[in-house]
Amino acid sequence: MLRALRYVWASPVTLLGVLIALVSRGSGGTLQRAEGVLEVAGGWPARVLRRGFPFSGAVAALTLGHVVVGESLNALAHTRTHERVHVRQFERWGVLLLVLYPLAGLVAWIRGGNPYHDNPFEREARTTELAARSPAEHSRMV
Ligand SMILES: [Zn+2]
Repeated sequence: MLRALRYVWASPVTLLGVLIALVSRGSGGTLQRAEGVLEVAGGWPARVLRRGFPFSGAVAALTLGHVVVGESLNALAHTRTHERVHVRQFERWGVLLLVLYPLAGLVAWIRGGNPYHDNPFEREARTTELAARSPAEHSRMV
């Protein structure tokens, strides 16, 4: 029951992600389901991810509710742990995250940080991603 509510709460953002998934599919992209999330790779949205965004530059993947849009299937696999944190954030905050995320980036920038790298929502995702890596991978990262 609680799990269903998380999907309902995040659904306005998920719907936006589904629209992007349809654009991807219509422009040669691939759709797959993984761990209760619709993953999208390739097509026109992938070109947008490669071009990048202000502050972050090119990104490998982007989460919108229960949809993760990736630059490629390989990018989806490599960013899965990180992007699942953003899925959990959408389950927690719902559509509010579309406002809270840029606000958090603005606060980070006002404090002298980078709006993307110092955004607490990104920090949470990076921390979880690092914790999930094996010790061998950890030592290679430094
Ligand atoms: Zn992120």
